[in-house]
Amino acid sequence: MKWNWKPALLSLASLVLFTPVCYPQHAIVKDGKVSAVIVVPDKAPEPVKFAGDELAFFLEKMTGQKIPIVNTASENKDTLSIMLGESPEAEKAGIKVSEIARDGYIIKSVGNKIFIAGKDSSGENADIRKKLNEVSKASFMRLKILMSPTNWLFERGTLYGTYRFLEELGVRWFFPGEKGSVIPSVKDLAVKNLNIREEPHFLSRHIGSTSAINFKSKEGKFDLEEFKELGYTTASNMLWSMRQRISSGWIPLNHLPPSMGWDERFGKSHPEYFALLENGKRDVDPDNRQYRSHQCYANPDVIKEIIEDIAAYRRGDTAASRGVPERITERNMQAKGWPSTFNGNIASVLPHDSFRACYCEKCKPLLPPTDTERLLLHSKQVWTFVDKCGRELQKKMPDQKITCLAYSSYSFPYENMPKLPENVIVGLCPGTYNKPFNLVDEANYQKLMGLIKTWRSISSSPLAYWLHYLYRFRQPQRYGIPMHLPHLVSREWKDLAKDGKWIYVQEDQDSIMFEHLNRYIMTRLSYSPDTDVDALLNDYYQKFYGPKAAPVMKKIFDDIEKKCMEIGRTNAGRIDVWEKYFNPDTLKNYASLTDEALKLASGTEYEKNVKLFSKYYLGLMRKGYADYDHNVKKVLDKKGAQVCICAARGPVKIDGMLDDAAWGKPTRTVTMRNNVDGKKTAWPTEVKLLRSPDKLYFGFTCYDPETMKRSLTEGEADSIEIFLDPSHSHDTYYQIQVDMAGRVTDTFYEGGGELGQEAWNSNAEVAIKKYDDRWVLEIAIPRSSFSNGLVHPTAHPWGANFCRTIRNAPDAKDRFSCWSPLLFGRFHQPDMFAHIYFTN
Ligand SMILES: [Zn+2]
Ligand SMILES: [Zn+2]
Repeated sequence: MKWNWKPALLSLASLVLFTPVCYPQHAIVKDGKVSAVIVVPDKAPEPVKFAGDELAFFLEKMTGQKIPIVNTASENKDTLSIMLGESPEAEKAGIKVSEIARDGYIIKSVGNKIFIAGKDSSGENADIRKKLNEVSKASFMRLKILMSPTNWLFERGTLYGTYRFLEELGVRWFFPGEKGSVIPSVKDLAVKNLNIREEPHFLSRHIGSTSAINFKSKEGKFDLEEFKELGYTTASNMLWSMRQRISSGWIPLNHLPPSMGWDERFGKSHPEYFALLENGKRDVDPDNRQYRSHQCYANPDVIKEIIEDIAAYRRGDTAASRGVPERITERNMQAKGWPSTFNGNIASVLPHDSFRACYCEKCKPLLPPTDTERLLLHSKQVWTFVDKCGRELQKKMPDQKITCLAYSSYSFPYENMPKLPENVIVGLCPGTYNKPFNLVDEANYQKLMGLIKTWRSISSSPLAYWLHYLYRFRQPQRYGIPMHLPHLVSREWKDLAKDGKWIYVQEDQDSIMFEHLNRYIMTRLSYSPDTDVDALLNDYYQKFYGPKAAPVMKKIFDDIEKKCMEIGRTNAGRIDVWEKYFNPDTLKNYASLTDEALKLASGTEYEKNVKLFSKYYLGLMRKGYADYDHNVKKVLDKKGAQVCICAARGPVKIDGMLDDAAWGKPTRTVTMRNNVDGKKTAWPTEVKLLRSPDKLYFGFTCYDPETMKRSLTEGEADSIEIFLDPSHSHDTYYQIQVDMAGRVTDTFYEGGGELGQEAWNSNAEVAIKKYDDRWVLEIAIPRSSFSNGLVHPTAHPWGANFCRTIRNAPDAKDRFSCWSPLLFGRFHQPDMFAHIYFTN
C-alpha cells in the first residue's frame, strides 16, 4: 500500500497515527470454521456468477473449506459477506457502478461486508464458463470463430475486481495453466479492511495473442512438450488473460481491404478502386486469395464504400448485406458477420501490408521523390486518404472514429502535414522503434519519443500503440536468446502512457516459461503504467520461487537483464551473444545458481517452480548455445567475414565484362563457401566490390563448366542474391536477387520473421555475360535506393551477404553458398551477415 503523506496528518493531534494501527480483520476461515459467504444476487449477470465460482474455487484451494455461494447477505453479524456485483446494498455503500470505467472495479469494506463491483454485461454472450468450455472442446476451425476478439467484448468489471481481491489474499497467476498459479495454502484466512478503486490507463490492452492456437501446425515451431506439461491451451491462455485483466474492449487496427474482402467484392466490378501500379495494371487479383491488393487512395468512391460499410455496421445490418464474402462473415457470426475491423464507434482504414503506391493521376502527385526516407515514402498518399475519410465521415456520423497505423512506409508524418480531423486515432507502429532491444540505444529511444510528440501534435486524439515486442524465440535468429528488459519496458510504458490510450502487443508465444515474466509484467503495466516494476519483480521472486530461493533467482534475472541491455546497446548478433554474453561460463554460473536455489527450495512447494525455470528457461538458453555451437561456431571465421568497399577510381560501365580500369586495384574480392559445413565450393564464386558517391558496384564471377547448358526459365535459372543491411541493424535489410537471365527481384524486409515488401525497388542496373566455364554478373545499385544509403557510414559497417544458388551443383552441399556461410538453410538471418566497411 502506498502511504500518502498529507500535511494535515503532521499536526500534533494526529500523533496518534504513529502508534501501531490495528487493521480490523475479517475472518474468512478461522479455527477450521467458515465465517464468510459469497453473495451473488439472483439474476446476477453471467460474469458475476463466474466471479462467484472463481472466488469459491480459489478460497477452497487456499483453505480446504467450501465457502458457500448465497444470494443475499448473511444476517449473522460475525459472518463476512463478500458482495459481488451491482446491488442496492452496493449503491447504499456509495458504489456507483455506472461511474466506474470499463474493466475498472471498486473493492470496499463496510462493516461486515466487502463489496466488489464493476460494470458487467448480461446475456448469454457474456457466459464465460460456457465459452471456455466450448473453446476447450472446439476443432481448430470452430476455435477460429470462438476466439475472434469480437466474441469476448463483454464487460466483466466485477470479475476483474474479484481477481484483484484474490491477489490481495496472496494468489498470483504468473502464466496460463495450473502450474503458473500460486495459491497459498493456509489454515486460517482473514482479510483486512479494503478500499480500492482501480481503472486501467490503457482503454484497450492486448498483450500477446489470445487467438486460436493450432497445435498441429505449431509442431516443431513450438515445444509442445512444454505446452503439455504446463497445461497451456487456447482456453487456459484466455482464462489467464482474464485473470491478468486484459482488455474487454478492442480497438480496431486491422488491415481494412483483406478483412472486408475487397478483392472479391470489387475486384471484377470496380478495378478502379485499386491502386494503379507503375506497370499500368490495377493492383488486384480477385481469384488469388493470397494476393495483397492495395487501394487507390484518391478515388472518392473508395471512401464512399468505406463509409457505407461503417454506416451499415452502425445501423446493425449484417455484413453480408454489404457483400462481405461468407468466408469472412462465418468467422464473425457473433458480430453479424463484421470482422474486428469494426467495433463500437471505431473502425480501421489501414491499408494492406507490403504497401504498394497508387500511380493514378490523382495519387501520383502525392508521392515524394524516391530518395525520401523510407519511413515516410508513402505518408502523404496514405494520410491524405485517412484525412479525407475522417472529414467525409464527420459529415455523416459525427461520433464515429477511424484508426490508421503510422506504419511501414507511412510511419512518419509528411512535411507540413496538417492536423488530422478530430475523429482520427493514430496508431503508432514505427518499424525498428517499437522493438525493445532497439530502444536500449538512447538515441533510438529519443527518436521514438520525438515521433510520439510529433504525431500527438498532429492528432486531436491520444495515440494507440502497436508494439512488436516479443520475438519468436524458437526461430533461428532469436533461438534461446532471452529478452528480459523490465526496467526499460517500465520506463517506456510510463512514457507511452503520457500520450496514448490504447496498446496492442503482438507476440507469438512459442516458449511459455521463457516468456512468461515479460507477459506478466506487460499485463500489469498496461493496466497501471505507474506500477513499481521492482516491487513487481520482488513479489514474483518471493511468491514463485519462495522466500529462501528468491534472492538467488533475483541474482540470475538481474544478470540476464544486464546482459540483455548490453546486447541491445551493442546491437549484438548471435556470435557476440553466445561468445561474449551468454557464453558457457555464464550459463554454467546460472546453472550453479539454479542448483543453489533448488537446494533452498527443496522439499517446499516452490521446488517444482525452480525446476520449471531450469528446464524451460535455462534449458532453452542451453539449446540456443548448442545450436550456435553446432551450426555456427565450427565454420566461424575467427576474424569474422568482413571486407572494405573501395572508392572506384574511374567510371564503371555495366556490361558484364568487369574490364573497366576501376575493377583493377584496389578492388577487394571475396569468395563463397557452402551453406552446410562452410567448405569451399567445387565451382567457386568471386565477388568484387566498389563504391562511388552515389552507387555501389558488385561484380560476380560464377564458375560453372556447364554454364551454356543452364536453363534460363523463370524459377529454374541459377541466381545470385545480395543482402544489404545499411544501418547494420541486424534486423531490417534489403534483398536483390538476379537470376542468370537477368531477372531482378528486389524486396525489403522490416525484421526477422516479417513478410518482405516487394514494393521496394532497388533500381539496379545489371548485365550478364556467359562464357564456357563461367557467367559474370555486373551490377550497379543507386545508394539512394536504401534508407540512409547516401550517408557515408564511418561509425558502423553495412551488414551484407552474397549468396549463390546452383540448381545442379555436382555436390548437393554446394546448392546454396554464401560469403558468410553461417546461415544454415536460410539466407534471411541478418544478424549473421558479414560486414562491409566504407573505409579506404
Ligand atoms: Zn489512385
Ligand atoms: Zn553485424
